[in-house]
Amino acid sequence: MATKKVKGAGRFKERYGIKIRTRVNKIEQTSRIKHECPKCTKITLKRQAAGIWVCKNCDVKVAGGAYKPNTPAGKIINQIKMGKFANLKAQALAQTAKKEAEAQTA
Ligand SMILES: [Zn+2]
Repeated sequence: MATKKVKGAGRFKERYGIKIRTRVNKIEQTSRIKHECPKCTKITLKRQAAGIWVCKNCDVKVAGGAYKPNTPAGKIINQIKMGKFANLKAQALAQTAKKEAEAQTA
């Protein structure tokens, strides 16, 4: 039964503690609302199963987080794909080479 404090997580009655029931409620709310589709940019992306998101408008199926389409780790992966950190390795190698050269002269 839905309650005022934890809404849908009220089905657990007094079990598991308030903190966990609050978390469950928050996760369920974010997983059940519609999100923005990455293809057609409409607010039609719905959760089909854990990690699977389907757009009701263009029928595209996207892999994402279990309870939300975008996770913090997924954002970093996308940034790597876009080449944001492409020069990072070269920069790090140049810095270590500079340090080694300084160490040899000293
Ligand atoms: Zn779409």
